[in-house]
Amino acid sequence: MPHRPAEAEHIRHCPRCAATSLSWHSTKNFHCNACGFTLFLNVAAAVGVIIECRGKILFGVRRNNPGKGMLDLPGGFVDPEETAEECAGREVLEETGIKIPAGSYFMSLPNSYLYRDITYSTLDLVLTVRLDEFPAMQAADDLIELLWVDRDEVDPEQIAFPSLREAVRSYLLQPAVPLL
Ligand SMILES: [Zn+2]
Repeated sequence: MPHRPAEAEHIRHCPRCAATSLSWHSTKNFHCNACGFTLFLNVAAAVGVIIECRGKILFGVRRNNPGKGMLDLPGGFVDPEETAEECAGREVLEETGIKIPAGSYFMSLPNSYLYRDITYSTLDLVLTVRLDEFPAMQAADDLIELLWVDRDEVDPEQIAFPSLREAVRSYLLQPAVPLL
């Protein structure tokens, strides 16, 4: 089992027959030598949304670990049969109450998400949305507070995840769109 990845330390038994003779053919799939069961531990797709309005970026404060109390972009894991754009709309609505227009694809970055002792590998798809008017909003779900932060005052080090930190840094390198 030379390929068993550190994040799969908890997988010691076959989920089908409970045998312990698992072979890891790569870091993302294993095979049970007793019953033939094979499972792929695929990367999970997640979405983060950079919402800009009048020179300010919307951040949420995380309710839970990982990154409890740190800044985050609205977003979350993509559901089965959902597009990244649909996920963005759903997650932003759930976490902020804001109905956003369709977002634009910006970039993707790999991330690791440690939740209850299990590390999930994700691919964070970052979308951007521009609003002309500040919307009514209410923090909910994974976020306890929402903050509009001036582009000039964003401190990426306050953002919980390295992937979204990097995305926000890249986004801020772009010139601000002039106000209408
Ligand atoms: Zn088995």
